[in-house]
Amino acid sequence: MMTVAVIGAGISGLVTALRLKQAGCRVTVFESSDRVGGKLRSARLDGMTVDMGAEAFVRRRPEVMDLAAELGLADDIVSPVGRRPAVYADGGLYPFPARQLMGIPADAHEVSVPLAWAPGSDVSLGALVRERLGDEVVGRCVDPMLGGVYSAHADDVSLRAALPALAAELDAGATSLTAAVGAVLARSTATGPVFGAFRSGYQELLDALAAQLEGAILLNAPVPELRPGWMLRGWWFDKVVLAAPPQQVARITRTSFPQLARAVGAIPAANSAIVTLVLPDTVALPDYSGVLVASRQVLTAKAFTLSTQKWGADTRPGPTVRVSLGRLGVSRILDEDDQSIIDVARADLETALGVTAVPVSAAVQRWYEGIPVYTPGHLDRLAEIEAATPPGLVLTGAYFDGVGVAACIAHAEAAAERVLERQAAG
Ligand SMILES: Cc1cc2nc3c(=O)[nH]c(=O)nc-3n(C[C@H](O)[C@H](O)[C@H](O)COP(=O)(O)OP(=O)(O)OC[C@H]3O[C@@H](n4cnc5c(N)ncnc54)[C@H](O)[C@@H]3O)c2cc1C
Repeated sequence: MMTVAVIGAGISGLVTALRLKQAGCRVTVFESSDRVGGKLRSARLDGMTVDMGAEAFVRRRPEVMDLAAELGLADDIVSPVGRRPAVYADGGLYPFPARQLMGIPADAHEVSVPLAWAPGSDVSLGALVRERLGDEVVGRCVDPMLGGVYSAHADDVSLRAALPALAAELDAGATSLTAAVGAVLARSTATGPVFGAFRSGYQELLDALAAQLEGAILLNAPVPELRPGWMLRGWWFDKVVLAAPPQQVARITRTSFPQLARAVGAIPAANSAIVTLVLPDTVALPDYSGVLVASRQVLTAKAFTLSTQKWGADTRPGPTVRVSLGRLGVSRILDEDDQSIIDVARADLETALGVTAVPVSAAVQRWYEGIPVYTPGHLDRLAEIEAATPPGLVLTGAYFDGVGVAACIAHAEAAAERVLERQAAG
């Protein structure tokens, strides 16, 4: 029986471990903290469960839905009730464009000069959109969206890594950027809600995964260093899966695999914080699912999710607002104490939405190195990582093929396949 060590019990490590266990391997998961889940974390606040990290998933991809069904959780998936988000800019709230791809609108007025595009090239989404649609579209549509997904500015995110389908349309000779966006949107045949969430938070999924892996997960078991031969904390393994964030992978591999450590360590990650505010029942919030903040505003917050309005009152009782703060290179706010961060979140909520009520409860969650950022050249860095990965070691995580939970599950399942393929190949 093949023995495999999985380092990291976030969603990537848990899913890899589950698939390997189902394939007959003896799996041990080493987790440095005292809990499973990594960036998935639910907490109790004012009698209800709220997610303090990721709160949703893309429902139009199959991975989370399939896993939930396999684990008997299909009936626990909820969808947004249908309100749209708004953008806060210069003192006002504006509806977010309906037909858009990562904030790039399909219907905006574009400069009339022909699109100059060198097939195969890579640029930041900010540079591409600014050239065709102007700075305002970057600041009011693309930046606010990328602030949420990647915790980064549009100028820091690679077109080719973040939106490969759009890059392919441009490579194929699209006549304009908006035509390329329209073509990508038109290819999607998926219907139904775009997003989903677990009724009682991601903890439901984590509990179900941990139950499947009972006896195989070691908590408070950090792996400080990885050496060839695969002896970890006193045990020998045939194979190792590294499912830790890139900065941790760089630390663990620094001595024995310096080339790999350099390549992985070059991937930046953004620090962010989530402040959850439960407001008194009397507070009325605007009729949006959330509010994204445009660039160059005086606010520190980058987004407000109006959770009760988004998911419906039966899943999130009481007006609850989730305030997101921090972006790549802009994260000093995380070093403040909890009360100061809550004060900043409340002041921003007053500026953007006019809400002055004192919250019934409030909680702060800091995420250092929370989200890996796919800066231009990201795909070259992944190729370097692939070339520097020694036999017997497989890497997975949010820095490979999408930061979302669904993408992490897909990559984790592929990582398990790679472990098994390598076994078959001897
Ligand atoms: C604030 C925030 C909001 C988000 N919102 C969403 C959302 O709404 N929808 C969505 O789809 N995605 C969202 N994401 C992204 C998504 O949550 C993450 O990309 C995903 O959960 C990452 O999972 P992972 O398993 O790859 O990494 P992680 O969750 O980082 O797990 C890695 C694990 O490895 C452990 N570890 C690290 N070093 C070691 C070591 N040396 N030894 C042992 N263990 C180690 C860590 O403790 C951790 O448990 C969000 C992310 C953040 C930060």
